[in-house]
Amino acid sequence: MDYSDLADWQKRAADWASGYHTGLRDRPVRPDLAPGEFLDKIEAPVPETPEPIETIFDDFTRLVPDAMTHWQHPRFFAYFPANAAPASMLAEQLANAMSAQAMLWQTAPAANEMEELVIRWLRDALGLPTAFTGTIHDSATTATFAAVTTMRELALGHEGITRGLSGAPTLRIYASAQTHSSVDKAVRLSGIGQDNLVKVRTIPNHPTWSMDPEALDQLIRDDIAAGLKPAGVVLCVGGTSIGACDDIAACIEVAHAHGLTVHVDAAWAGSAMICEEFRTLWAGIEAADSIIFNPHKWLGAQFDCAVQFLRDPAPQIGAMGLRPEYLKTQGADEVVNYNEWTLPLGRRFRALKLWFLLRSEGLTGLRARIRNHVAWAAEAAEVIAALPGFEITTPPILSLFSFRFKGDAKTAELLERVNRDGRLYLTQTNHAGQFVIRVAVGQFACTREDVMMIPQVLGDLAQDL
Ligand SMILES: *Cc1c(COP(=O)(O)O)cnc(C)c1O
Repeated sequence: MDYSDLADWQKRAADWASGYHTGLRDRPVRPDLAPGEFLDKIEAPVPETPEPIETIFDDFTRLVPDAMTHWQHPRFFAYFPANAAPASMLAEQLANAMSAQAMLWQTAPAANEMEELVIRWLRDALGLPTAFTGTIHDSATTATFAAVTTMRELALGHEGITRGLSGAPTLRIYASAQTHSSVDKAVRLSGIGQDNLVKVRTIPNHPTWSMDPEALDQLIRDDIAAGLKPAGVVLCVGGTSIGACDDIAACIEVAHAHGLTVHVDAAWAGSAMICEEFRTLWAGIEAADSIIFNPHKWLGAQFDCAVQFLRDPAPQIGAMGLRPEYLKTQGADEVVNYNEWTLPLGRRFRALKLWFLLRSEGLTGLRARIRNHVAWAAEAAEVIAALPGFEITTPPILSLFSFRFKGDAKTAELLERVNRDGRLYLTQTNHAGQFVIRVAVGQFACTREDVMMIPQVLGDLAQDL
């Protein structure tokens, strides 16, 4: 295949993509497939001689889509959505065409400066103070890793980074039990050690399962008394399991009173903060030091796209940034090079899809979608609550709720039935020692009818259970 063939094939790919999207509702959300079944179909020795692109393309359309879980399916209610608004997909195609590497300002000036603009747009859209700047990462996990590594930098000074942790005091990071496993991973990989991630208890009967700020204060005091060194606090807004939200104002107050920086993980729920009425869920956020949210989840920026806001980027640049001679920009030392804010050196042009998305949908369009999802989730939860044998285990926080059906075993069996049936896709979590099913509404293409199919399918499949 030559570059001269590219336009034709891209047109064919575009036609295929368009048909794929319009046909999504007719596909099962998740394929009924055993592990290894797909590999058996494509197993072959490494190609020694070139094959015509026609054959490869045909194999793709014949084999791959049927072996995929369809994340853009309007009835995908599992995990959290990974929405790809059409404008953001188009932007990705354009970024692909240039295939630039945006590691430095001079390797991609437009990508670099557009990143600055879209970060400002999103900061304002979420109602954050103008003091925040930020950057785009591939994932919330790497952003949280950067934030925790920065906590280490601040706690030990730069020697912690250069000399390592031997001989250094034992660092402690605090988070609620509702935080995502990416926090555990960050604490592991930063060398702080997973045992030094202190899971703070939640307030009993708190409506959003907040970390108990008094317990946080006590644990920090106990650690100091024991000769350990508190380094930072990670809070969550919209935890993955059931949507838990820490009392941001109260927890930040405790952290800051001890001189600790605070990173807030709002990977999913952050998108909802474009709607003013949901901002009570993170009241006090303006005092955070670092915030992560994934526009690739609910907002509609095609995967991958994780935005981190920073009150002061200097400590993170101190921890992550290196500038060897081959990465210097002659005559422009002061220029922002976002690779110094993030883990990988190489960076994709991710700002483009945000620029397309925000302009093409406008905040009005995006807000309307999110408000619909929240309203439809509440409606579906109400209908499920009235079905015989069903119990709502956690009420909707934004558009996420959980339920169970006659105990753990039946709930697991029902989930298996739902996902084999294919009309919906739901996943499970563990809450208060029980196996429960999560429902996360937020698909870009879903309608009220799609959401109301959840209670309908559940009712059907639970009948003889
Ligand atoms: C999805 C999610 C993450 C992880 O996001 P990645 O971008 O996949 O690393 C972290 N925290 C929360 C609350 C999430 O919902």
